[in-house]
Amino acid sequence: MMKIQYIFHSSYLVELSECYLLFDYYQGDIPELDTKKPLYIFASHQHYDHFSPVIFQFMLKYPDCEYILSDDISAEMVREALDQMGLNGSIHRVHEGDSLSLPKAEVEVLSSTDVGVSYLVHADGYRIFHAGDLNDWHWSNVSMSENEKMTEKFRAVLTGLKESLGGETLDAAFFPVDPVLGEGCFIGPVEFLEEIPVKLFLPMHMWEQYSICGKFLAAKPEYERIFYSIHGAGEEVSIKDN
Ligand SMILES: [Zn+2]
Repeated sequence: MMKIQYIFHSSYLVELSECYLLFDYYQGDIPELDTKKPLYIFASHQHYDHFSPVIFQFMLKYPDCEYILSDDISAEMVREALDQMGLNGSIHRVHEGDSLSLPKAEVEVLSSTDVGVSYLVHADGYRIFHAGDLNDWHWSNVSMSENEKMTEKFRAVLTGLKESLGGETLDAAFFPVDPVLGEGCFIGPVEFLEEIPVKLFLPMHMWEQYSICGKFLAAKPEYERIFYSIHGAGEEVSIKDN
């Protein structure tokens, strides 16, 4: 079983039979979780909209909790936050190229085109990818050659992801569809969908402008079966068996 809930911005909660995965949480409501299942909390990088020390509070409620943090997140800040709360958590600081065996999940740490990392998680027979700030960021105010360099960097990460997948399909991919990019907003998601086999593509980094989902599907109707339109924070994703 896999249950997915959109929490806020780039944060998604995934419930599997054996564990929970929580990605890039900094605010939003988390439902009551089963305390018997381990909770793996991922942060892709230090930006305020992807990481906050509030994540350490989950330890108080869910003791079987492990943290997978990109190593651009200050170790001192983490230590201070834990000291303040009087906690001693299980923290894994990771870098691109690392792989990590957790009791109920295997994690591959991939690169990003912005700060930090992206995550490929194998758990419960599922393959789940969270992009963090990995995207083909096309800004209208930068030169064409800069945008081309970005595309090259982005493609290299996709090649790495493809290799890691070894011909398998992602069951869920969380990926930025950022309206701030204007006309460039769909470039990265479309390149990703063209390159990487995905069963379910879940948009994120939308700055609460959820109408971007409808615009995406109007422009790219061929992805109607794969692209999941999000309408608001807290939304539970219904997964069709296919
Ligand atoms: Zn971001």
